[in-house]
This record gives sequence, structure tokens and C-alpha cells, in this order.
Amino acid sequence: QAKSFGRNQLHVFDVQHDHAVQTQHTRQTRVARALHAGELVLYYQPKVNLRTGEIIGLEALLRWQHPQEGLLGPQHVLPLVEDTDLQVELGEWVLRHALAQMRVWSDAGMGWEVSVNIAAPHFHRPNFVQRLKDILHTCPEVSPARLELEILESAALEDMQYMRRMMQSCQALGVRFALDDFGTGFSSLSYLKRLPAETIKIDQSFVRGILEDGDDLTLVKAIVALAAAFHRHVVAEGVETAEHCAKLLELGCERAQGYGIAKPMPAADVLPWARDHAARHAARAVQEAARR
Ligand code: C2E
Ligand code: MG
Ligand code: MG
Ligand code: MG
Repeated sequence: QAKSFGRNQLHVFDVQHDHAVQTQHTRQTRVARALHAGELVLYYQPKVNLRTGEIIGLEALLRWQHPQEGLLGPQHVLPLVEDTDLQVELGEWVLRHALAQMRVWSDAGMGWEVSVNIAAPHFHRPNFVQRLKDILHTCPEVSPARLELEILESAALEDMQYMRRMMQSCQALGVRFALDDFGTGFSSLSYLKRLPAETIKIDQSFVRGILEDGDDLTLVKAIVALAAAFHRHVVAEGVETAEHCAKLLELGCERAQGYGIAKPMPAADVLPWARDHAARHAARAVQEAARR
């Protein structure tokens, strides 16, 4: 009796296991198909200097232009490929496309920097640096110094020694780093000292609260001071209103990204946006000069 019960259990387990494998396979197939059908695209969100109005660069953000479901965010793609070879394929596709886009903008006289988000398991592949080097070589017109790799702060904390070595090897190729979602990863002074990222990006959850939440304000102030002490650039993420912009400038954080400046947009919209942005900034500068 007990034995047959056990066999039954095993049987049930196997069916579920098969189902799980099947689903994982189907999910990956969906992403692979979308990738090869050209349904995956990169949107670009500008990062600006709030004081000068200058465009510092743009962050490439993955989108799925789904034939039935419309425009889908990265949360509909990234979890389906987590820790698979396809994640690496996708990550390399993003790098190649971002570089190709930088070349297009260069031809239009815009030497903008572009930031690419790198998933931690991709970054941890033993051949990451060599592959990055190969990809950079396919685009010799674009200086590697214009490419910034964004690594989640939380992922960077996992294996500090290895992380540091990997980052230095990439930096030897000319690329730079930003620690993304900074403040969410239990950072401390010593961590930042050991990670050679040129930039830290303050997580939007803190930035959003600076106008009404005293704790968020304290945190953002502390991160800005930390960045200054270690000679890193600091970018505020998730800046949604003019009031946020004013407060950030007051706190000494000049670099910002967020819906209040621009939403992520298709590559083709960036040049027209940049022209409008420059005109708006110039008009505001004239108004301010007149007021003084
Ligand atoms: P992230 O790198 O921290 O990117 C910022 C996210 O905040 C983006 O969401 C952006 O659209 C959103 N955002 C920007 N400004 C505002 C704002 O003012 N308010 C609000 N509420 N949100 C704002 P998105 O595009 O959905 O991306 C989510 C995350 O997915 C990214 O967070 C990044 O971790 C990841 N991701 C996106 N593209 C890629 C990619 O190509 N590769 C990898 N590995 N990860 C990616
Ligand atoms: Mg990012
Ligand atoms: Mg972020
Ligand atoms: Mg994020």
C-alpha cells in the first residue's frame, strides 16, 4: 500500500517536473522567436545636467513590440531568460544595438554616451570581457569611453573581489561603469571604495520621496555626499517633477533622469526631442536672465 502510494507521488512529481521544464522551454522559445523576428527594440531615456541643460547621455531600455499585446516592458522578457544562454545572447544583442545607435547619432554630430544594463549572470560569464572586446571591435567608430555599463548595486556586492577585477578589465578597454539602484543594496563606505564605478545612480524609490519624506531626503543627501567624497558622479533616477529637479540642484545633484525630463522613447524620437529640449532650455535661460 505504502509502496504504491510512493510510486504515485513520484509519478505526480515527474509530471510537474516535465511541465516545469516544458514551460521554461516554451518561455525561452518565445523570447528567442521575438528576438529573431525583430520584435525586441531598445528605447532610450535621456540623462541631463539640470543646471546646464546639457544631455549627458541616454540609457538603453529593452522593450518588446509585441504583435498582439503592444509595447511590453523588460519585466515581460528578462525573467523568461534568467540564467540561460539566451540571457547572454540578449545581453550581447543589446550591446551591439546600442553601439550601432551611437554610430548613427555620431553621424548626426551627437557624441552621446549610452548606458546599457547588464544582468549579473551575464557579467559573471568567464568570457564576458573578451566578448565585450569583440563587440567593441565590430564598431571601431564608437569610442568605448562612450559606453557605460550599469550593474545593479545589489549584484555588485555579491562577490566583491571578482567584481572589482572584472570591472577593471572592462575599464582597461575604455568602458565605464554605473552602480544602478544605489541605496537598495546595503551599501557602505567601504563597498564604494572598493568598486571602481565612475557613477552611482540613486534609486528612484528614494528620489521620489525627497519632497515629503525626511528619511528619503537624508538618504539622498548622504549618497550625494558619499559620491562627492569618492569623486564619483551621481545621477538621480525617477525624477518626475520640476520640484524634484529644484530640490536635487539644491542638494548638489546635477545629473538626473526621469519622466519629468523625458520618458524612454524610440531611437528615432531622440534627435527631435534633443532639439526641443535645447530650445526649451535656451528660452528658460533667457527668461531667468531677464528676471535678474
Ligand atoms: P533601471 O535600469 O533602474 O531603469 C530605470 C527604470 O525606471 C526604467 O524602467 C525606466 O523606464 C523607469 N523610469 C525612468 N524614469 C522614471 C520615472 O520618472 N518614474 C518612474 N516611475 N519610472 C521611471 P523599465 O524600462 O521598465 O526597466 C526596468 C528595469 O529593467 C531596469 O531598471 C533594468 O534593471 C532592467 N532592464 C531594462 N532594460 C534592460 C536590458 O536591456 N538589459 C538588462 N539586463 N536589464 C534591463
Ligand atoms: Mg539602469
Ligand atoms: Mg535604476
Ligand atoms: Mg531598477
